[in-house]
Amino acid sequence: MDHYQLIVIGSGPAGRRAAIQAAKFGRDVLVIEKGRRVGGVSVHTGTIPSKTLRETALNLTGWRERGFYGRAYRVKQDISADDLRARLHITLNHEIEVLEHQFARNKVDTLRGEARFLDAHTLEVTGDAGEKLCFTSDRFLIAVGTKPFRPGYVPFDGEYVLDSDEILELRDLPRSIAVIGAGVIGVEYATIFSALDVHVTLVEPRNSMLDFIDSELVADFTHDLRDRGIALRFGAKVEKIEKHAPGKCEITLEGGRSVRSNVVLFAAGRMGATDSLNLEACGLPADHRGRLKVDPTTFQTDVPHIFAAGDVIGFPSLASTSMEQGRIAACHALGEKAYDPPEYFPYGIYAVPEISTVGMTEEEVQKRGIAYECGIARFRETSRGHIMGLNSGMLKMIFSLKTRRLLGCHIVGEGATELVHIGQAVLNLKGTLEYFVENTFNYPTLAEAYKIAALDAWNRMPPLDR
Ligand SMILES: Cc1cc2nc3c(=O)[nH]c(=O)nc-3n(C[C@H](O)[C@H](O)[C@H](O)COP(=O)(O)OP(=O)(O)OC[C@H]3O[C@@H](n4cnc5c(N)ncnc54)[C@H](O)[C@@H]3O)c2cc1C
Repeated sequence: MDHYQLIVIGSGPAGRRAAIQAAKFGRDVLVIEKGRRVGGVSVHTGTIPSKTLRETALNLTGWRERGFYGRAYRVKQDISADDLRARLHITLNHEIEVLEHQFARNKVDTLRGEARFLDAHTLEVTGDAGEKLCFTSDRFLIAVGTKPFRPGYVPFDGEYVLDSDEILELRDLPRSIAVIGAGVIGVEYATIFSALDVHVTLVEPRNSMLDFIDSELVADFTHDLRDRGIALRFGAKVEKIEKHAPGKCEITLEGGRSVRSNVVLFAAGRMGATDSLNLEACGLPADHRGRLKVDPTTFQTDVPHIFAAGDVIGFPSLASTSMEQGRIAACHALGEKAYDPPEYFPYGIYAVPEISTVGMTEEEVQKRGIAYECGIARFRETSRGHIMGLNSGMLKMIFSLKTRRLLGCHIVGEGATELVHIGQAVLNLKGTLEYFVENTFNYPTLAEAYKIAALDAWNRMPPLDR
């Protein structure tokens, strides 16, 4: 039986960063992955595929040019599911090759198979043909991620009623789609399909969506969705989902309303993928959604030599944060120095348009009783926005009246997920309003919106005592 200093279960963002960090410390490390190739949900069904699909949709439809040439503008007239898939395969292959090379270069051992605990220090790995191997280790990192939540009342068929992993396998582009769940994944796919001129209905039992985002941004975003014809059915529970015939689906909502569409995408939540790990054997409980509890700074579980990171530990469930968690967890697991995760990380929602945010929302600032002022810039106020033909997009910053420090930065619109990093740097370096007012920004850029928003706040703030 082989022995390692660290065994990582799962090769997604958390697992791969942890493994490479461990290898860089000169430790023997093994990554076990049950999928056909390394990369996790992030590479195969989540982050990269959905972002590639988005990019392809925006390019083939000519979406970004419609501000100038009108809503009827198209780069390609008939966009098929094959057109969308073509770019996907190239991108994914490239990603996987880079990962495999990273593992090989750093001398990380990898093994394909499903891992389960036999006891607190022993894992059994079952390969495709049923062959079994056992390994022992001083330390473990569980980075098994999540899988779609598939409640019994949803008649999933892999063709017309799909979860968020299966949607990538759509054979034909439907004329209409109903998306259940206005969380990040639901909103992203709803807006991507809408950009492809598919008629979209977004169904959400709550009365609002994206509650962790500043409500002024959500209002702007919601207006944008309605304006382009996305039907929002909020505040009503789903009572029934039926497939009457191929391409004829019906969702019955509480209160009697129903939604008919060719395809239903059920995107209401994900579950920790811990069910096959036989966690009882190592004395580790998972919660009702399969998630594991960890110390938030060390990522250690209640079983001291077992650590967990990434989506399996719950919020924020991002590839970006999972990578950092994996790296920090490996440092703690191996007794090496580790930095604490920064207080504020950015959140990116790759809807059309993008949303990205870092720091406190206006609602949070109010709840904490901090005296504050906001500054807002519309992208159409910037010269870059004129050149790009942008009609929408806004950047909002929140400053403390007492310290003048930036408390939060919230962006909706083209390039939001890139632009937010300026706000993030200022926020985490504890910068103030003066950074934006006193510094020169490249011109013409969308980043100029930072200066406009800062001046907007400055106009209403008491003068600075120097
Ligand atoms: C549609 C979608 C879009 C997303 N978009 C973004 C985005 O734009 N930006 C962003 O930051 N995040 C995004 N995410 C989230 C991101 O994909 C996850 O946060 C990230 O993949 C989590 O990484 P992880 O390492 O925890 O696990 P995963 O990436 O889930 O990887 C876990 C791996 O563990 C393997 N595994 C599970 N059980 C076992 C076992 N018993 N034995 C061996 N192997 C096992 C699985 O096969 C899998 O490969 C998106 C997610 C989805 C679903």
